[in-house]
Formats: sequence, structure tokens, C-alpha cells
Amino acid sequence: MKTKSTNIVWHPSKVDAVARKQLLKQEGAVLWFTGLSGSGKSTISTEIEASLIKQGIFATTLDGDNVRHGLNKDLNFSDTDRRENIRRISEVTKLFCDANVLVLTAFISPFREDRAYARSLVPEGKFIEIYCNASVEDCEKRDPKGLYAKAREGVIKDFTGISSPYEAPVSPEITLNTGKEDITTSVATVISYLRQKQMIV
Ligand code: ADP
Repeated sequence: MKTKSTNIVWHPSKVDAVARKQLLKQEGAVLWFTGLSGSGKSTISTEIEASLIKQGIFATTLDGDNVRHGLNKDLNFSDTDRRENIRRISEVTKLFCDANVLVLTAFISPFREDRAYARSLVPEGKFIEIYCNASVEDCEKRDPKGLYAKAREGVIKDFTGISSPYEAPVSPEITLNTGKEDITTSVATVISYLRQKQMIV
């Protein structure tokens, strides 16, 4: 997206990542959950966030519905607004990551190009894409928020998996079979990945 304003100059900070690392004793990273509505993004990211905080890691979560109550309350679910939704979240994610926070995001984020943009904003190795792999049928059976029923009735337009596309990740860092396995298994997979990458002990 082109910058609309003119006469803006980047103002450098007097504090760098090394100084922040000394203070927080941790580096930033992004755990980017993607998947259909009801595939488990919020459930798993909430569990992981709690587990990280318990271990003394400064983590925070940006959740789809929550962000639409504030920062993105002016956006709907058209393709254009979904893209803008993810673009803004990506920028916020970058800010957290630069500030050495471990940030988790729980957005459907249906378009590959948008997820690639989010990845491009942070240093190599700091973006962990986590695909919550559950079919439309599995998610529809759960329908925790009753949204699939509304989408089938046509009450909700542009519903991912029914009337709006979802582009599954091609090579995510982690794939969770959230449609088939239980929550504990999915959470354990992410935690063991983070241990393997020495992001946690
Ligand atoms: P999303 O954030 O992707 O829309 P939610 O986390 O809100 O999904 O809902 C997922 C639903 O599926 C919850 O009701 C959760 O209890 C259930 N569920 C069953 N198995 C799993 C699993 N392995 N991982 C995540 N959620 C699961």
C-alpha cells in the first residue's frame, strides 16, 4: 500500500533490540495461527499464551473478533477489508515483535499473500505460521459461535469456507490436525516446537 502522507521522516530510537533483550531477557517472535472459523485458533492460542506467561515469557495475543471491536471496527468481511484487517494486524504484530514480545495472532487470515506480507515484516526465523487444519465439515459440526448455521441460512455473507475462499498454507512451520485431535495434543505440539527452537525451556 502506498503511503498517503508526504513530509514524513523516520525518527530513529535511542534504544535497540539488544537493549530491550537485556531488559526483557527474551526476543520477540510471532506465532501466527491461521485456519477456518472454529478450527481452534483462539482456543489453542489462549492456552499457549497462558503457558508462556506461566514460564515468565512476556506474550500477548491479538484475536480476530477482539481487534474488530477496536482498531478494525471500521472493517467488514469483504475481500478488500479482510486484506486491510490483516495488513493492520501485521503492522501491530511487527511492533510487538520489535519490542521483544512474543505475540500470538488468531485470525482466519484466509489469503496466502497477506500472510506472506505479515511474514515479510519480521526477521527470518521469527515468524511461525501455525495451520489449524480442520475441514469445513468438522468446523461446521462444532460451530461454537453458531456462525456456520447463519452462513448456511445466508444471514452471514462472505463466510470463509462457505461463501468466501480459504487458501491453506503451503509450508507452515506447524500443522495441527485440530479437526481430529484433542486440544491437549495440539497445544503440546506447539510447546514442543518452541522448546526445540529454544524459544522456551
Ligand atoms: P477459531 O478461533 O479458529 O474460530 P475457536 O477456538 O473459537 O476457533 O473454536 C474451536 C472449537 O473447537 C472450540 O469449541 C474447541 O473446544 C473445539 N476443539 C476441539 N478440538 C480442538 C482442538 N484440537 N484444537 C482446538 N479446538 C478444538
